[in-house]
Amino acid sequence: MRLCFASNNAHKLEEIRPLLPAGTELLSLADIGCQEELPETQDTLEGNARQKARYVWEHYGVPCFADDTGLEVTALHGAPGVYSARYAGPQRSAADNVQKLLHELRPHADRSARFRTVVALVLSETDEHLFAGEVLGQISPEQRGSGGFGYDPVFVPAEGDGRSFAEMALNEKNQLSHRARAVGQLVAFLNRLPRLA
Ligand code: IMP
Repeated sequence: MRLCFASNNAHKLEEIRPLLPAGTELLSLADIGCQEELPETQDTLEGNARQKARYVWEHYGVPCFADDTGLEVTALHGAPGVYSARYAGPQRSAADNVQKLLHELRPHADRSARFRTVVALVLSETDEHLFAGEVLGQISPEQRGSGGFGYDPVFVPAEGDGRSFAEMALNEKNQLSHRARAVGQLVAFLNRLPRLA
C-alpha cells in the first residue's frame, strides 16, 4: 500500500519507516510532489493533524496520515502545547524554542512534562481515523545529547534510565516515544484492514 506521511521532516520519516507494516510504501510530501506548506491553523493537535492529512487527500488523492505533536509542561499550564513549533517565534527554531523553555522553567521546581502526538489517517473522503500517544517525563535543566530533534535534548522520559531522548539511539527512543505509540496504534489499525492482508 502507498501511504503518504504528510511531513518532510527527515528525522520523523526515519523514526516512522521501521514501524510500518511490511509492504507499506511510505511517501514523503516531496515524493508526491507537494512543495507547499500545509495548513496548520487549528488550536488543537487533533485539528491540525486532521487538517494536514485532509489537505493531502483533497489535493493529491493519496491516502495519507499526518501527525501533530505538543510538549505540555505542567508548571507552564500545558504550554507550549499545540504551539510547540512556534514557541519562540514564527521562525520555528528548535534551538530558540529550547532556550525559551529553559528560561521560562528556571523559577519552577516542578519540571514535569509530557509529549503528546495525535495521528490522523485519511484513507478516503469519508474514511478518517485518529490515534494518540503520549510519554511522561521531566525537562532537564540543561541540554544533553546530539541525537533526535526539537526538544529531545531537554526531555528525559520517566520510563527511561535518566538519559534525554537526544542521548538515545533511534530504536531506544522508539520504545518510549509519544510518536511511536501513536504510530503503533496506526499500525495495529492498518494491520486489521482487509485490503492490506
Ligand atoms: P510537530 O507537530 O511535529 O510540528 O512538532 C511540534 C513541535 O514539537 C516542533 O517544535 C518539534 O520540533 C517538536 N517535536 C515534535 N516531536 C518531537 C520529538 O519527538 N522530540 C522533540 N521534539 C519534538
